Amino acid sequence: MAEANQTAAISDTKVLWRIIQITFRYKWSVIIAVIATFIAAGFQLAVPSLVGNAVDSALGLLGAQTVSSEDAQRALLHAAFLLLGVSVLRGIFTLIHNFNGEAIGHKLAYDLRQEFYNKLQVLSSSFHDQIHTGELITRGMLDLEGVRMFINTGLLRILLLLALICAGAWILISTDLVLGLLSLSFVPFVAWRSASARLKLRFLWFSFQDQMAVLGRIMDENLTGIKVVRAFGGEKHELAKYDSAADEAMDLSSARIKARVSSTTQMTFAYYLAMGLVLWVGGSRVIAGTITVGTLTEFLTFITILQLPVRQLGLVVNSVARASTCGGRLFAVLDIEPEISEKNHATPLSIKDRNVRFENVSFAYDSNDDTDTSFDARRPPALNDISFEVGRGKTLGIVGPPGSGKSTIAHLLIRHYDVIAGRITIDGQDIRTTTLDSLRSAVRVISQDPFLFTASLENNIAYGNPWVEEGEIRGSAAIAQIDGFIDGLNEGYQTLVGERGVSLSGGQKQRTAIARTAILAPAVLILDDSMAAIDAATENRIRQGFAPVMANAATIIISHRLSALYECDEIIVLEAGHIVERGSHSNLIFQQGRYAKLFSLQNKNSTEPERDRNQAAQGELE
Ligand code: ADP
Repeated sequence: MAEANQTAAISDTKVLWRIIQITFRYKWSVIIAVIATFIAAGFQLAVPSLVGNAVDSALGLLGAQTVSSEDAQRALLHAAFLLLGVSVLRGIFTLIHNFNGEAIGHKLAYDLRQEFYNKLQVLSSSFHDQIHTGELITRGMLDLEGVRMFINTGLLRILLLLALICAGAWILISTDLVLGLLSLSFVPFVAWRSASARLKLRFLWFSFQDQMAVLGRIMDENLTGIKVVRAFGGEKHELAKYDSAADEAMDLSSARIKARVSSTTQMTFAYYLAMGLVLWVGGSRVIAGTITVGTLTEFLTFITILQLPVRQLGLVVNSVARASTCGGRLFAVLDIEPEISEKNHATPLSIKDRNVRFENVSFAYDSNDDTDTSFDARRPPALNDISFEVGRGKTLGIVGPPGSGKSTIAHLLIRHYDVIAGRITIDGQDIRTTTLDSLRSAVRVISQDPFLFTASLENNIAYGNPWVEEGEIRGSAAIAQIDGFIDGLNEGYQTLVGERGVSLSGGQKQRTAIARTAILAPAVLILDDSMAAIDAATENRIRQGFAPVMANAATIIISHRLSALYECDEIIVLEAGHIVERGSHSNLIFQQGRYAKLFSLQNKNSTEPERDRNQAAQGELE
């Protein structure tokens, strides 16, 4: 089954609980943050009674005839300093709480980033076939940020708010039941409003994230295919596509802001209503002499202090909604079991004779069809009952029209995918029973469109073995016939290539990739149309340079240029995943079948440019 289909939805509570569990990895920071949170809440809750007492004592002193106004001022100053001291302490503990909260968030983001990146390395090709790069980047960046923010703006703030609201409620109610209940009257409404806003914000955030992924995908495709866009004058179409996706993201963003602002406004209104009620009822009690002005002040200060948590409930709700959405998407990837993985008792591939065998191998790619939920949703077979054998120093040639399954053979041999029937062995060992590392260092593929990293030419050539000597790098560049070109560059082997460096032609890229593989002396070598962009004379020189490497390896050459296959020990002709002809070059010519037809086409007119001939031959095969 495709790995992408394994991304089962995880419930919100499970997602949040899982984030909380991860934070326990940094238990000391958590303990310090939680203690600091409660102490800060305690100091904050002390403020109302300090203010109330100060008001009462000042009024008492001012009312008493025996006390001078200086004494009253001194008492007020004392109360002011006490208040200042409590505020400073509250500030310090809030700082400790915030610092640790942020630190935990960053540590968690660091760990999750590593886990996510590691997971992407081990997930098999079928997963990457079905999920777009832009989507993965969004999950690794934006979703991870949503989870990180939750620690401080969600989790720790909830604790602070709960401490303030619960302890505050207890203090208020135990002081005066009616006034206490009036002061807290806005809390149920706020709780209900928060819950409904949470659902709406969560939905909107989810849609917004999806839309950002669409934007990322459009941008990624545009940048990767920028040359095609320009060549076909598609700039306007691309801009319109981007604009419409951006507009949709903007609308979702506005809807999110509206939902948040409206819920926050309603919650604030409820708060002022409660304050008005307390002033009215409390004021009447002061007039009646049942409570002091200080007690009323204490209630009003309490409500003022509770105002902030009330306002922040909206933020917390948003943070929780975002974290559950983001965390769900992130964990869905982290939880995927790689389709291609090592068996428990996988052993390193033991290389002796360098003998590769395909035994009745069949394979079909996973279906990309999301609506097809069947367990084994697959496309029509890309390979059907394929058998061949290549030994050390021997060469197998593969030819066939595009889509006939040639590259699939290479993919299977390095276990980008696993066969669905038959088996592939190297020196008698089924490659599914060996470790992936040992397999992939024994089998090397040079593809038609190789990827070069944004790094120096030297580093690109030494990518498979960073410890090789400089002489070996030059030697392999000479084999690949790229040494002359590199020597002619101002910075030689230190020249930066890739996106931010010098642009190489298709042929130069291919030769660099050939040098990168030549240095590794693989046991099994696959040249997957790797010289398609290189002229026939250079190809010939490369082949001569490669002779010692090939003499010690089992080599598979996939090529649409038959001249590359003349000397192969065996050539197979593929068509729609089936072997339709096989034999040596002369044997196949003798058979007068598809191969012979292709051969006569490629040799029809020696004055015709070779590329045109090859294209004509390709067309004929198709
Ligand atoms: P060739 O190398 O001969 O051009 P391939 O081996 O690349 O052919 O492809 C064989 C068949 O498998 C084709 O029908 C192709 O469309 C399909 N195919 C190749 N790669 C994938 C993939 N990643 N996902 C789904 N189908 C694929």
